[in-house]
Amino acid sequence: MHNHTPSKLWRFHGGLKLPGHKASSMRASIAPATLPRYLILPVQQHIGAPAVPIVKIGERVLKNQCIAKAEGLVSVPVHASSSGTVIAIEPRPVAHPSGMPGLSIVIETDGKDEALVIPGASSAFAQQDPAQIRERIRDAGIVGLGGAGFPAFIKLNPGPGYQINTLILNGAECEPYITCDAMLMQEQPREILDGLLIMQHALQAQRCLIGIEDNKPEAIAALRNALTVAENKFIKVVAVPTIYPAGGEKQLIRTLTGIEVPAQQLPASMGVICHNVATAFAIAQAISRQQPLITRVVTVTGSALTQARNYWVRLGTPMRDLLEQAGATNTRFAHLTLGGPMMGLGVTDTAAPVIKTSNCLLAQTENKFQTKPVALPCIRCGECARVCPAQLLPQQLYWHAHAKDFDKIQDFHLFDCIECGCCDYVCPSHIPLVQYYRFAKTEIWAKERETQKSDIARQRHEFHLWRIERKKLDDEERKRKKMELLNKVDADEDHKQSAIEAALQRVHAKKAAQQVQPRNTDNLSDTQRKLIHDIDQRRMQHTEPAPNLNKDKNP
Ligand code: SF4
Ligand code: SF4
Repeated sequence: MHNHTPSKLWRFHGGLKLPGHKASSMRASIAPATLPRYLILPVQQHIGAPAVPIVKIGERVLKNQCIAKAEGLVSVPVHASSSGTVIAIEPRPVAHPSGMPGLSIVIETDGKDEALVIPGASSAFAQQDPAQIRERIRDAGIVGLGGAGFPAFIKLNPGPGYQINTLILNGAECEPYITCDAMLMQEQPREILDGLLIMQHALQAQRCLIGIEDNKPEAIAALRNALTVAENKFIKVVAVPTIYPAGGEKQLIRTLTGIEVPAQQLPASMGVICHNVATAFAIAQAISRQQPLITRVVTVTGSALTQARNYWVRLGTPMRDLLEQAGATNTRFAHLTLGGPMMGLGVTDTAAPVIKTSNCLLAQTENKFQTKPVALPCIRCGECARVCPAQLLPQQLYWHAHAKDFDKIQDFHLFDCIECGCCDYVCPSHIPLVQYYRFAKTEIWAKERETQKSDIARQRHEFHLWRIERKKLDDEERKRKKMELLNKVDADEDHKQSAIEAALQRVHAKKAAQQVQPRNTDNLSDTQRKLIHDIDQRRMQHTEPAPNLNKDKNP
């Protein structure tokens, strides 16, 4: 008997009922996207330090080959998604809020799709050390595929201070139009469960929950049916209410466990870790099949396309190639969005590639979600606060962002805003609230970077002053020691001199002592007496100092 539902579900604050628009891209199974002529692989497809290219222009590379290595603690490598020749390593257009190009490795594919075979581990994952598993996950270049792009191996290593009880797989996929996770769950439930078991082993978590919105009954059924009897004891597939943003990390944790993760804290601090279902799939591929992350499922949908569908896309595929394959009716779309309509990013250049975090390409002839009339003043209706899932005061955030009061806005927990767009969606004054929040965040980050820079400059200056002061003290100490040494030498000299003088005195004293004493010559003959007298006279002449002639001359 399967044990599918936890005893209770909790409700998170706010949220919205939104039209799904999911059916059109779910009519057919996931199709492989065609191999593009050029693959453009940015070295920064994740949160953290960009990877560093390790190939040269003109070099032939194989599919699965690492072409850019991870740099620093928070980073992952990038792998070639097909075989071919590196023709450029240069900045290329990427989909990024800054609009700036990103350093990319460009491969001209050769159509052979020749793969590098990566050797596997000698033992099953359950026999491997969690640290070894995390290392392999990092080497496979795996990041959170739900959109954030945080390196997965770090989230599987919460640190010695945290005991993880619950591992959650996020299959909620709450944004309209996006169906890549739903289709992956339908088609690859066993691989997802295998990835979940690997993560559970790495975290040593006691229980696992898979949260899926209840508008995806096929995905829920597929995963439940794939569970073995043994797994069913500690893995629960839970249908959660379809309320946007049910797939927000903190919202899903609240719904499934009742735990409210406090502001500015990580779920790990509450004993919970949450990963996306597609990340679990990628981890299973990496650990069980030695397959680095080079493809992902992308939903290509919207009114400007004739063949909305989910595709297995090689990372680095230019968006325009994918749109063409999906039957783009007009290459000059009114709106092309990377991601969903609520949280997605507008794309202006279709030469930008699909990267690890690209879950959906939404090509619309008109944007029903984001086309807004001219903004009017805030009427303080409070609708935005009512729907905010992070329980913030969006109108206050707006006031302070508008006034550029970036200190005050942080008192209202700006950085807890998940940019879900609920406030924006309901605002009767059509104020583009999320744009204000993004602007404020960018300004604060820029200011922090400046502060960090000036902090570093200040520290350098202080260190410079410290070095000068230190040198001065060292010089003084050196001088003092030298003086001490000199004084000691003088003292030794004096001592030596005194010793010499004392020795001389001793010699004189000895000589004086040797001076001839008058002898008793009463019993001697005259000859003997004269002889002794002569001897004494001679000895005296030898011991007595020479007469001072000058003294004699000048009395
Ligand atoms: S919903 Fe709009 S008008 Fe109403 S309080 Fe919020 S910002 Fe102001
Ligand atoms: S965008 Fe931010 S402030 Fe607005 S509803 Fe979502 S979390 Fe709240």
